[in-house]
Amino acid sequence: MRAIVLDCPGSFRVAEVPDPTPGPGQIIVKVDCCGVCGTDVHIMDGEFPPTPYPITPGHEFAGTVAAIGPDVAIDLPLGAAVAVDPSLYCGYCRRCRSGRDNLCENWAAIGDTVSGAFAEYVAVPAVNAHLLPAGIDGQLGAMVEPLACAVHGLRRIGPLSGDSVALAGAGTMGLLLLQLLVHSGAGPVTVIDRVTERLEVASKLGAAQVVADLAELSGHRFEIAVDATGVPVVVDGVSALLGRGGRLLVFGVTPAEATMSLSPFRVYNDEITVTGSMAILRSFAPAVELISTGAIDPRPLLSPPLPLAKYGEALSRVRAGQGIKWHIRP
Ligand SMILES: [Zn+2]
Ligand SMILES: [Zn+2]
Repeated sequence: MRAIVLDCPGSFRVAEVPDPTPGPGQIIVKVDCCGVCGTDVHIMDGEFPPTPYPITPGHEFAGTVAAIGPDVAIDLPLGAAVAVDPSLYCGYCRRCRSGRDNLCENWAAIGDTVSGAFAEYVAVPAVNAHLLPAGIDGQLGAMVEPLACAVHGLRRIGPLSGDSVALAGAGTMGLLLLQLLVHSGAGPVTVIDRVTERLEVASKLGAAQVVADLAELSGHRFEIAVDATGVPVVVDGVSALLGRGGRLLVFGVTPAEATMSLSPFRVYNDEITVTGSMAILRSFAPAVELISTGAIDPRPLLSPPLPLAKYGEALSRVRAGQGIKWHIRP
């Protein structure tokens, strides 16, 4: 089969590699679509520490069941459409045993630490596959994974009852978080992004207000602040907008060594809550449901899928902030 292979950071090729065979408990998925995300840029640049090289990346994917290995107990007919939760956790470490699998001490993931879905076929644990209903195509199915991350983020914020929100970043994750917030009882959501086209999409998806620069909001106060940019100065800027009793969700991935300037006095005196959100935690099935029912509609985010041979172009577009969500259709 054909697959993207990264031999080392900065170097990739479209390679002919052996077809995967399903081990015990595994199925083979024929990949229909796989999303390109910021993590893939970090893997290309050698900035995602758990990645071993060579690797075939790709962790946001959907496809059809092409083969079933031994000892698969769950009913997944050949040809069935599935989206796959890429999370791999050990189940026995302290974090897993306390129900926080996403913080597993032996954390791994399809496309991040083992072969992923920028390939025609990929082997996955059958229990990670979620059936998709008719009418959900592979590109929509590939949006379940990022939505599952956003659902976990929403849960980390906690209950909402009309709270005003400042949301920085109108990329894929920001726009999915926006829709979830609007549908889950948040008050008016203000979206901040430098890219006009993204702000237009945010307005269509329910943002009460859109601004191109945080400075336009000076003097405003919000009950919830969300960073979906991963840019440290923006995390600082959006946290500064919190009123007393405010809640901050750090969702974007900043460089590991970055720090933030939130005042400990404010955390104490204003009872500011700071929360992080890491990947997926039992949020994949709800995300399938949200897309299947149309409650969340990722379609305004999507560009036409590109072939494997255009993987480099897709990464460049993600880097340049062109379009919103790009997929590879192997
Ligand atoms: Zn991703
Ligand atoms: Zn574990």
